[in-house]
Amino acid sequence: MTDDFEVVIGLEIHVQLDTATKMFCSCSTDYEDSEPNTHTCPVCLGLPGSLPVVNERAVEYAVRVGKALDCDVRDETRFHRKNYYYPDLPKNFQISQYDAPINEDGELVVSVEGEDHEIGIRRAHMEEDPGSLMHKGGSIERSNYTLVDYNRSGTPLLEIVTEPDVRSPDEARAVVETLREILEYLDVYDASRSGALRVDANVSISQDGEEGNRTEVKNIGSTKGVVRALRYEVTRQKNRLKRGGDVTQETRHYDDDRGVTVTLREKEEEKDYRYFEEADIPVIRTTEFKDDVHVPELPRERRARFEDEYGVSDEVAEKLTSRKAVADFYEEVAASVDAELAATWVADELLRELNYRDADVDEVEADEFAALVSLVADDELTDANAVDALRAALDEGRPPVGIVEERDLRKAGEDETVEATRAAIDENPDAVEDYLGGDNEAINFLVGQVMQKTGGSADPATVNEVLREELDGQES
Ligand SMILES: [Zn+2]
Repeated sequence: MTDDFEVVIGLEIHVQLDTATKMFCSCSTDYEDSEPNTHTCPVCLGLPGSLPVVNERAVEYAVRVGKALDCDVRDETRFHRKNYYYPDLPKNFQISQYDAPINEDGELVVSVEGEDHEIGIRRAHMEEDPGSLMHKGGSIERSNYTLVDYNRSGTPLLEIVTEPDVRSPDEARAVVETLREILEYLDVYDASRSGALRVDANVSISQDGEEGNRTEVKNIGSTKGVVRALRYEVTRQKNRLKRGGDVTQETRHYDDDRGVTVTLREKEEEKDYRYFEEADIPVIRTTEFKDDVHVPELPRERRARFEDEYGVSDEVAEKLTSRKAVADFYEEVAASVDAELAATWVADELLRELNYRDADVDEVEADEFAALVSLVADDELTDANAVDALRAALDEGRPPVGIVEERDLRKAGEDETVEATRAAIDENPDAVEDYLGGDNEAINFLVGQVMQKTGGSADPATVNEVLREELDGQES
């Protein structure tokens, strides 16, 4: 018995495809604020005799994701019935894909602490989302009763299954985050929907090269949850092994409120699902359209281009490209002002202020922001006053340059700076004496005084220079 453990994680990431209607019927998928069970029809309620019709857009989106993940898109793909009973699944089976998934054998490159890791994508197949259950009175194992809402039933899902190539909870988070960025770039996914991305994780620990029993952790709904759930589960399994025990092969439920995983049921095996072909849906021949499905520039490519084209650092490029909307915004700003300065202002100042306000970049007009940055570029506005104007603009929903004019924030002219400096010297003889006596700190106090007199519009570096000139003149 040694402590030579290796963590082995495979992820199943369920993504709701952002189509207007459901996977096999014309019910709207826009049900988030609707009353329960109002977006349903005989197909998504699974009533006998109803017939599914495949959503063409969902298939196109699935191909787009497959291509972006370097998968082989099958020429012919078909659906199967996955049979199991669950209250949110009124048909008693889920229409899914089995031996002919639309996408196979792909790859995702993720960066963990600056190092690239390749994660194999085993398959990315289409299926329908079940309805949703609301456990009243607490979590699944503590609630008194459960309500079911079929509004979600039949929403198109893509299940992306990785090879067991993930070696740590942090790497799992990188996989989910990288995938989310790609999905956003592909415009197939709406991150603002609750439950739009859900993760199941298969976790086992190899000890001295021998693979241990696997558990499947279900119901992880966020990237933060991925790390938390997996850290808990990895520690739990390691502790069992260290005590000489065994890990039970089972399905566990992640309780996000408590940050723990709990036993849900014995893990099903494939044969338990009695897959058989969905005879109501014909085989889909992708050869007729897959070549026309276009994959846009992806985050990694855009990152590399930003470094190349705009001369920004790796770190800044990553901040600018992790969300498509931010990258688009930056390129609009960089079209009219110095690209490197624009990068700093977008990646550091703007994102920080937006983050602080929990606001989105689409609340800012690129040309108005560019006008602010160009005042800084032309040396007409100090950084500090530009930030002030930006904050006020975000708070008040107005163009920042309007605030610069209204509050007279433009940089003080040289005359004004010299005048304010002389006044500060006259009014603060003690500080002047300290400075002349060799106390270099005293100059900071005087700079502060000048800044105050000019309402922050003087350039601190210039003030420092003028102060030293004036004071060093007095010395002689
Ligand atoms: Zn329906």
